[in-house]
Parts: sequence; C-alpha cells; structure tokens
Amino acid sequence: MYIGIDDTDSRSGMCTTYLVFPLIEEIRNHGLDLIGYPRLVRLNPNIPWKTRGNGAISIRVGKGRGKKIKVGEMQGEEIFAYERGTHVFEEIDITRISSYFALKDENTNPGIILSPVKLPEKLYWRGVREIVPIEFVEQILRRYGARWYRFKLGRGIIGASAAIAWKRRNYTFELLTYLPRGMWSDDRFVDSKSVVEMDKNTRWTFDNYDYENRYVAIKPNSKTPVLFGIRGLIPGELMRAREMIKSTPYNSWIIYLTNQATDDHIVRRKIKDVKPYESVKILGTVSKEPKTIEGGHVIFAISDFTGEVECTAYEPTKGFRDIVRQLKLGDEVEVYGGVREEPFTVNVEKMRILKVAEIRVKLENPRCPVCGRKMESMGRGKGYRCRKCGTRLGEDAAIYGFLKRDIKEGWYEVPVIARRHLAKPLKLMTVRRENL
Ligand code: ATP
Repeated sequence: MYIGIDDTDSRSGMCTTYLVFPLIEEIRNHGLDLIGYPRLVRLNPNIPWKTRGNGAISIRVGKGRGKKIKVGEMQGEEIFAYERGTHVFEEIDITRISSYFALKDENTNPGIILSPVKLPEKLYWRGVREIVPIEFVEQILRRYGARWYRFKLGRGIIGASAAIAWKRRNYTFELLTYLPRGMWSDDRFVDSKSVVEMDKNTRWTFDNYDYENRYVAIKPNSKTPVLFGIRGLIPGELMRAREMIKSTPYNSWIIYLTNQATDDHIVRRKIKDVKPYESVKILGTVSKEPKTIEGGHVIFAISDFTGEVECTAYEPTKGFRDIVRQLKLGDEVEVYGGVREEPFTVNVEKMRILKVAEIRVKLENPRCPVCGRKMESMGRGKGYRCRKCGTRLGEDAAIYGFLKRDIKEGWYEVPVIARRHLAKPLKLMTVRRENL
C-alpha cells in the first residue's frame, strides 16, 4: 500500500518531511516494512498557498522481500527499506502522525492518503505543472479504493496524491538530517567550511554552496526540524557527504528519493499560450531591451510569431541579472521560468542564448570623397555634407562596425542561492544516469 502526506507544517516550525519517522514507527508497530526509498515530491512551485517549497511525501509499505538497503537512522537506530514487498492494505492509526500537525496555523490544511495501489500518474503531472482542484483528486481516490483523511480544508490530499502517483522517470536523492524534537526552535550550526570541503570532495552532489554569494544552501532559512539536507545523484555518496559536515549533533537522518532538479515542472509554450501559475520554456527573440527597475529587478521582453511576453530576473537572482542586462534586441533565447499573474511576467530561472544578434553600429562619419575632410551629419537619417566643398552623401556612407558583445551563446542559470527545488542545475543537464 501507499501512504501520502502533505500540508502539515507552518512557516514557523515543523516540516512535512519529518513525518516519515512517526510513519515508520507506525508501520513497524503493524509488523510492516518500508518498500523502496521514502519519496519527497515537489509540486507546482507557483502555487500561491504553499508554505515553502511545495513538497509532499509518500512511502510504500508491505511485507519486505528481496534486498534490504539502509535508508537512514531514527534516533540512532538504523532504518532499512526492502527492494520488493508483498501486498497489504491495512488500517494505520493516523492519530500519532496527526499529533505533529501545525493545525493552529490558518494555512495548514493537512491531508493523508492510504491507497492500496499506485495512483495514476496524471495526478503527479497535473500536480507539478497545474493547479489541481480537490474534487478531481477525491474522484480518483474513490475510484482507486483509497482511504483519505482531510484536516480543516484538507488541501494536503492534492500534494499527497501526487506524491503517491509520481513514477521515478527522472530522479535525484536528498539526505536530510533532523534535530531531536526538543531542539527544533533552538539555534543550530552548520560549519560553512565543512560544506565547501564536502562540495569539493563529492562528484554528484549539487546546490550545496553558492560560491558567488557565499551562501550555504544545505541548511534551511527558518528554524525547522531539518538541520541540513544534501542533494545528489547517488545515495552512497550522500552518506559519505553527510559524514563530512560539521554541525550541531543530531541522531536522525533519512534519504529521500525525489523529483528535485528534474525540470519536471517545465512545459514548452508558444507565447500566446502562456498562463499564470505554470512554469514554461519559451523560444523567442528579445523584443524589449532589459531595464532595471526599483528593487533591482531586471525586466525585458521576448516575442515569437504568436505574441510578446515580459520576463523578469528578480533581485534575489543576484549575478544572473548581469547576464540578462547584456541582452539586446534580436538575441534569440530560450527562457525557462514560472509565470506570475500580477504582474504578468515570466520569473526567469534559466536561459539559453541560441544566437547573439550582430548589431551594426555607426563608428564614424564618412570622409568627403572629393576633398578628404570629415563630413558632418545633417540630422538623424538625413545623410552627410562636406562643410568645405558641399558634397553630400547618404546615411549609408558612414563607417559602420559591429557592437562588441561580451555575452556568449550557451546556457545561463540563477545562482544556487535563488535556485528552485525542481530546477535542473546546468551541472546535471548533460548527465545520463547509465553513465554514473
Ligand atoms: P513544506 O515544503 O514546508 O512542506 P509546502 O511548501 O510543501 O511546505 P504546503 O504546506 O504543503 O507547502 O502547502 C501546499 C499546499 O498546496 C498543499 O495543501 C498541497 O496539497 C497543495 N498543492 C500542491 N500542489 C498543488 C497543485 N498543483 N494544485 C493545487 N494544490 C496544490
């Protein structure tokens, strides 16, 4: 059977990913095992009612068979998952899990699903790319014989169902470490130097440290149960990476299989079809040159044969804006980003420059072909005249050259500090899992 949970936390505490521990205790009490890695599934990053990263979790449960792998530790005790399992569909007591819900927060609307079978994949694809109505989810749950629990609005069943429905076509891992329960609101420390060392000494971890902005990206910005989380492609390397980090002591950690860094949220769109709350990639030509507005955001526009759309590199994208500022009319680009409704703009997270436009610029006025003197302009578009002998020439007689463009064709991305969970870092764009 499958269990999915979402929307249990508030901005001020808790984290849905922590619930894997009480869940594991609960299934153990029923004599059941974890089948495969627990899953952390990120959903539409443009959902206005998300708490932070719009993540939901799911686990598969059964009587374990086949190979046993270590996936974490819970208060120092090892947690294993089995490769395969026999089918079960049992009642699980959810009161223990729900005691962790931050129900007082008005934006916390938890949902839990127990499903005897895997849910249809469309729940995932719609969950990661669109806005899903709760009725649509309930209809499917009914059809698949699932049991579900809604607390308050119970919106969490949307994320929970998508987490169960996710099939790992593209995937990465994240190893998360947790503070003991009594310490969640305490100050904690993660040694930056050890993070840099780990980053340099591991091959397939990513988004650990932002060198440009001197920012440690493995630790959360708010006080949650999570001490730090390391992302990567290989569980074994993540376990080694964990040991390299110097931090406040902790005794629980787990490896999640995740859809982070897969670009699963991105859909290709023509400009006329771009809608708010989705994430898109659009091929176009720069049609309005970048300008920096108050707050340091950089705005430009691109167009294709169907229309024009505004794109913004927001201030938190830091040095990425310096690249964007170099765009000129006529540059051919492919822009990746989430679509905002108000103002209607694409919040750029990645960009490919396919062709840097050649821009002809006038370097000098022409010389008079009769007397050799430098000619003077008669006004914009009106050509040139020689003061001495009165010879006239057209506009094209001037000496032209091409504007020096420092920007090059290729890929550009926002720095680690501004990176979204789902955005695939350029480092991974050319990696094939078979070659690892
Ligand atoms: P955290 O990352 O800390 O767990 P969060 O950012 O995941 O928090 P939630 O508190 O889970 O935020 O809130 C997201 C809510 O949006 C959940 O109720 C989830 O079910 C719902 N949701 C997720 N994706 C969609 C979607 N595509 N359409 C509609 N609702 C969605």
